[in-house]
Amino acid sequence: MNIKALQEKIKRFNEKTRPKYKLYSQTEKEILTKTIKLNEEVGELCNDILSVLKLQRRSKLAKFDKRNFYEEFADVIITTFQLGSVAGVDIERAINDKLKKIEKRYHLEKDRIES
Ligand SMILES: [Mg+2]
Repeated sequence: MNIKALQEKIKRFNEKTRPKYKLYSQTEKEILTKTIKLNEEVGELCNDILSVLKLQRRSKLAKFDKRNFYEEFADVIITTFQLGSVAGVDIERAINDKLKKIEKRYHLEKDRIES
């Protein structure tokens, strides 16, 4: 199959599988936007992790600044908080609930920071 035929086939497939709903509300659009932004920030963090591990090509390693690595960590955390806010997620509760599950799973001492 050539590329043009493949594109036509995918186009027909896409028409049949296209979602029948639309995103109408501002909240839904913000959730989608923040989700995409979070993926972008995770990609940037992955890029810097490759640099920290010296797994990038030389030209990228030459431009790498370790301060940017910290900034990308912050970007992921900030964007996660923004997404949580838009999606109505109580992040403190979500983290505490998850820590409880992890502690239970691994039989860890209860040494979480309590507020
Ligand atoms: Mg970033």
